[in-house]
Amino acid sequence: MFHDKTNFEEARHRMVERQLVQRGITDERVLQAMREVPRHRFVPEDLWDMAYRDTPLPIGHGQTISQPYIVAYMTQMLHLKPEDRVLEVGTGSGYQAAILSRLAKQVYTIERVEELARRAKRILQELGYDNVLIRVGDGSHGWPEAAPFDAIIVTAAAPEVPPPLIAQLADGAPLIAPIGPAGYQDLVRLYKRGDRTETEYLTPVAFVPLVGEHGWRERGSEEEET
Ligand code: SAH
Repeated sequence: MFHDKTNFEEARHRMVERQLVQRGITDERVLQAMREVPRHRFVPEDLWDMAYRDTPLPIGHGQTISQPYIVAYMTQMLHLKPEDRVLEVGTGSGYQAAILSRLAKQVYTIERVEELARRAKRILQELGYDNVLIRVGDGSHGWPEAAPFDAIIVTAAAPEVPPPLIAQLADGAPLIAPIGPAGYQDLVRLYKRGDRTETEYLTPVAFVPLVGEHGWRERGSEEEET
């Protein structure tokens, strides 16, 4: 219905005003990135008309792109600076990575489902967001060769913050992650302070599970491993 550029842009500006500004997102750089990145390009084409609604959407393989407010909120809580190098675990559609790429110098993002990673890579390339590196694999191990990171964002839910990710944070850097079982989690933010960490609970959220060595085990893997 509104498959032209102007209407998508209008819908996006409305999304930012109603879903973000009116709910207390105040970081102007985050709001600008959310106005700029064409969210519809990161969802399947038959869902383009729904891309600016106040809801997560399916992206295939049982995975979802998060609700715009959650993307903005998590991003704002990282306080990114233009020179930062950021790690994301759980690329999914690539939308969160696109937002991060507007706010930081370099984004590293890891996705375990190869086809999602491939799709995200293509869209990011088409949009000219060339400061995002995507890797296929178990992101619960992090990306040791590129560490330390100035910020880490985990967009799938783990039983606890994966220890390798804490190890890969720069001193004083934040990590944000949903912690808990499938369906219901607490969003936590942790700061690394020397060899200690400082953790705060932010808000309840619902993310898909982080499946991996330092996440939840894949269904059926218990049998395979005995
Ligand atoms: N940030 C995404 C949404 C994340 S959905 C976006 O903006 O669209 C969570 C993603 O995490 C899914 O694509 C899922 O396949 C992926 N995932 C789950 N476990 C993972 C792991 N161990 N390593 C990397 N990615 C993982």
